Amino acid sequence: MRQKLSLQNVMGYFRVRWSKLPDVRRPNNNTRYDIADGVNSAFAVFFMQSGSFLAHQRLLQSKKGRSNARSLFQVEEIPSDPQIRNLVDPLSSRDFQEDFWFLLDELKEQQRLLQFRNELNTYAVALDGVSFFSSEKISCPKCLKREDRSGTEHYYHSAITPVFVKPGQSQVLPLPPEFIVPQDGSEKQDCERVAAKRWLSQHHGHFPEHSVTYLGDDLYANQPTCQLIAETYRQFFIFVCKPESHPGLYEWISFLDKNNGIETVTHRHWNGKHGETWQYRFAHQVPLRNGSDALQLSWLELVITHEDTGEILYQNSFVTNHLITSTNVIQLAQVGRTRWKIENENNNTLKTKGYCLEHNFGHGQQDLANVLATLNMLAFLVHTIQELIEPAYQRLRRALGARKTFFNDLRALTRYMVFDTWDDLFRFMEEGLEIAPLPP
Ligand SMILES: [Zn+2]
Repeated sequence: MRQKLSLQNVMGYFRVRWSKLPDVRRPNNNTRYDIADGVNSAFAVFFMQSGSFLAHQRLLQSKKGRSNARSLFQVEEIPSDPQIRNLVDPLSSRDFQEDFWFLLDELKEQQRLLQFRNELNTYAVALDGVSFFSSEKISCPKCLKREDRSGTEHYYHSAITPVFVKPGQSQVLPLPPEFIVPQDGSEKQDCERVAAKRWLSQHHGHFPEHSVTYLGDDLYANQPTCQLIAETYRQFFIFVCKPESHPGLYEWISFLDKNNGIETVTHRHWNGKHGETWQYRFAHQVPLRNGSDALQLSWLELVITHEDTGEILYQNSFVTNHLITSTNVIQLAQVGRTRWKIENENNNTLKTKGYCLEHNFGHGQQDLANVLATLNMLAFLVHTIQELIEPAYQRLRRALGARKTFFNDLRALTRYMVFDTWDDLFRFMEEGLEIAPLPP
């Protein structure tokens, strides 16, 4: 079963898939390289988290007549960096959505996605925006523009990057990103909403009804978005709902408050140093906005206070179309709060933990910047799946401690030696570390 998602097979699958990508080059143009040589090479850079991986492989190829680019990443011939950009630029970031779903659907098929199912009996998908490739000088037709206080124009790219999250689960699983395009508008909030709407219409078919809870910050807690999710796509949501942006709703809440219309559940927690009071308050049938057509939603609030000092340690409120009861309110708040994971686990990982999402890998003339960002996120998904299902990968990551050490070692080994398969590489590392499992 695991075979289908083993690295060797995933790379083989990518090679076959990417060979079929549209080739818009004119025949007299440089057609020496297959499109897949360009895409697999770019993917290899993100997977190895190394800008110099391909240079080392070109050297190995010239000295030994073979390289890890071919054996591990199925690159037939390694193009130069400018050739890779030329090969990849005419592609669309959309071309790679199918690859995310191939991996996620297979994970589901193998019952391995179940570990992301939460206590509300749904999968939580957190929505959030992320910006990357910011520059004052370099730009492309897909760039967004903003002016800073001094009047200097900055070019950048932006996307919503949905991920599967679960309370208590350290990994997150990235879904295909949706890029914000210049036509989406000028306000950050509008752009993100429009892109989210596009994402939903593209991908909703992958989820059976009532199987997903979307998480998002305050900008998603508006009538059109909530209506789309609840009524059109028949899924759930838990969105942050701030008083500043929902005055009508909070007037209603304060009215209910005065008339005993708010239910309360209180728990005491010991955090290791002092006691905390966790107070959940919730109400049903609250109008999201003013007007007779307003959606009626449930509202909940969690306030955590220091038991001795009374200091407020955490406070947040949400709207949801889940039915809130005094038994599930704790789970609802917990799932709602995992939204922060998208920033910690996904966006920060992509920016700081070796993926260098913000680094400017190239804008190109067409969709290059977004295609490269998509391949970077796809590399993150493949790494995470290996962490979830591949025993050798798990043992190595555990034995080497920091993820940085693991990737340093991968880079160093593949610089000097050529491995025929991923299994060979992992076996070599395991034997060296003396952590190889005993033969059955
Ligand atoms: Zn650009």
